[in-house]
Amino acid sequence: MILFNVPAITGNEHVYIQQAIMERKFSGDGHFTKISNEWMERNFDTAKVLLTTSCTHALEMAAMLAGIKEGDEVIMPSYTFVSTANAFVLRGAKIVFVDIRPDTMNIDESLIEAAITPKTKAIVPVHYAGVSCEMDKIMELANKYNLIVIEDAAQGVMSQYKGRHLGAIGHLGCYSFHETKNYNCGEGGALLANHENYIERAEIIREKGTNRSRFFRGQVDKYTWVDIGSSYLPSEINAAFLYAQLEKAEEINNNRLESWNRYYLGLGELESKGYIELPTVPEGCTHNAHMFYIKCGSLDERTRLMKYLKDENIQSVFHYVPLHSSEAGMKFGYFHGEDRYTTVESEKLLRLPLYYNISRNDIDRVIESIKKFYI
Ligand SMILES: *Cc1c(COP(=O)(O)O)cnc(C)c1O
Repeated sequence: MILFNVPAITGNEHVYIQQAIMERKFSGDGHFTKISNEWMERNFDTAKVLLTTSCTHALEMAAMLAGIKEGDEVIMPSYTFVSTANAFVLRGAKIVFVDIRPDTMNIDESLIEAAITPKTKAIVPVHYAGVSCEMDKIMELANKYNLIVIEDAAQGVMSQYKGRHLGAIGHLGCYSFHETKNYNCGEGGALLANHENYIERAEIIREKGTNRSRFFRGQVDKYTWVDIGSSYLPSEINAAFLYAQLEKAEEINNNRLESWNRYYLGLGELESKGYIELPTVPEGCTHNAHMFYIKCGSLDERTRLMKYLKDENIQSVFHYVPLHSSEAGMKFGYFHGEDRYTTVESEKLLRLPLYYNISRNDIDRVIESIKKFYI
């Protein structure tokens, strides 16, 4: 069976976990959390990175930091994971879904302005498949209307937009280190505070609403409850595992890109003959090969192809029932404008097996199977 995903292991995970055990420091913000944060600050060029227990939690922190409250509106695509919306619903916001571009499956930047009202507080671009949204346009709108931009860069670690790292472009950014993502520690994430003025409050929110971080730095003499917050620190065991992956980030990235390119070349014939569509990476975007997807002609064709691949012992998956048509999405948000692409394009998309060190033989077998299905 060719599996859809096999979580990455680079070799030093157990060594660093052993070290964390020897250091007898298991709770958060020890040595490995510190060096993971610093590694990302250095490599992604941002003011502050704070490891969290998940990207979902990083998004929840971002919603608090943005001061989202009852009645505020938050703009985002409907084609995304539930956490993107849920984090803001938890603060009482109304979600305003905007259509996507069919080429990248990212929010259509040209439709955002029309969805802005006096109640709009934030825009949440989701960098689907690690390919950047049109950030220049989004930041320009944010400046014009005084909005906060929170990047859901769960899939975008190591990707760039015009030379800048995804997650480090908006006011706040969120990463995922879930085992289905490029770099993982089982469950984990990070919040990127890209402006100095968010740092202190981010530390407080992450530490259950206390000023514990300032206390440990000797900046205050009491450690007390000062704000809202929750428990968002990952354990040192997770951070140790993650650091082993960050250290090898370049190698993982190159390996995934090689596989991605092999699919792209191998399936080119089917695209040029008009059977399927392949992903688009716009100019100025450098992606991280988070996923390889194809688009079939219709929902029915995708269902048949999936079944065909399954019979060939190949696992393929699709995802995201658009949020605006989900039970909670209908309750907590609405679609602004016409759903021209979100629903139809999501029904055609199929994700193929892609993970660190997937073999060339396996990729070739997937390509050959898809070709046999069509030709
Ligand atoms: C994976 C993912 C998340 C959630 O990440 P967790 O770390 O599992 O909480 C959020 N948004 C997007 C776009 C994702 O792909």
